[in-house]
Formats: sequence, C-alpha cells, structure tokens
Amino acid sequence: MLSADFANLGNDIEMINASKADWFHIDVMDGVFVPNISFGFPIIKSIQKLAKKPLDVHLMIVQPERYIKDFKAVGAEYLSVHYEACTHLHRTIFAIKEEGMKAGIAINPHTPISLLKDVIKDTDLVCMMSVNPGFGGQKFIEQTYEKCRELRTLIENSGSKCLIEIDGGVNQNTAPLLLEAGADVLVAGNYVFGSENPLATIESLKNIHGNTTSKA
Ligand code: ZN
Repeated sequence: MLSADFANLGNDIEMINASKADWFHIDVMDGVFVPNISFGFPIIKSIQKLAKKPLDVHLMIVQPERYIKDFKAVGAEYLSVHYEACTHLHRTIFAIKEEGMKAGIAINPHTPISLLKDVIKDTDLVCMMSVNPGFGGQKFIEQTYEKCRELRTLIENSGSKCLIEIDGGVNQNTAPLLLEAGADVLVAGNYVFGSENPLATIESLKNIHGNTTSKA
C-alpha cells in the first residue's frame, strides 16, 4: 500500500479487492528504524474499513512490542516485526500470537538466515527484505535467491509451517526465480501501482508458477 495514491486510497483499495492479490501489505515506518516515515493507525483503520482481504502489516519501527495491541485493534492479521529491532524477539512473537494474530519476522538484507534457527518453529512468516528497507521502488538485491533457498531448507529441516515472503523489487523477471527458490508470498508495490493496468499486472504475477508448490 506504500505505493498507493493516498489522495484516492479508496479507489486503490477497491482495485486490490477486485484483483487476484491475496493480502494487503502495509509498511509502517517510524523515521528511526528506517529514514522514512510512512503512516500510522488512522490510515490503517481506513484501509481496514474497505479491505476485503487480510492485512499483512510490516513494522519497520523500533520497539514494535509497544504497539502490538494497537495493530490488532486496526485489523492486522499478520504482524511482522524486524529481527534487528527486537531485543526480546521470542517474547514479542508470543505476544503477537496471544493477540490472535499471525507472527512474522522481517529481516534486513545483511541479516543471516542462521539467526532465525531458534525461532523458526514459532514463526508464521519470514518477511525477507530484498532491498534496503525504507523507501519504495528500490533495486533488487541478487543474493536474495540464495538466501531464500537457505531459508526454505531451514524451514523444512525444522518442520515449521512458516511462509517465506519476499519484500522489494518483485517484478515479472524476479518473481519466477523467487518462486523457484522457495518463496510463498511476493510483495509488489511500485511494480503494480506504477503500471498502466495494475489489475492486469497483478494477474500476470499470479500466473507465474515456480517449480516448488507455492501460494503466490
Ligand atoms: Zn514491507
């Protein structure tokens, strides 16, 4: 939703409702964890009123544990916190689940997959940043493919049902390779909203299938 037109937010939400997209991905930025500031609760509440699909909220904020109940109140179904922003990640994951939401961990491009080993079983989603977080429309980091395969192996070896979400630089070229590398969920912002026909762009992304079984 970061790439949506906020002067016509209702139209863009209806477009997503009518599209083949599965979720609304909502990037919350605080100007501290990332340089940019995006939006807060009133906007998310407005999205919730019109959205007919789950809200997948990605918190790029410091001390996200302070706001878990607030994000539940505005309708988050998936709530992802950054590994790099949580001193007590295990506790935060369980606090999210106690509110009845699915718990996600987001990781920056420099954060190794191996650091997720002790929490992967308790996690519903890993949101892997494939660009440096903070702004829309950034260049895709190629190492993401290898990292995605590594994460897929970790998930399979642990018996976790965790989904792999790729956030940043998803387009017609990167999507097939990401699905082949084991991704389940692909986040597309600029690529969809910046296209001439967003509905058709979403449909063409959804028609791509990797070699592995995939939900995207
Ligand atoms: Zn995101």
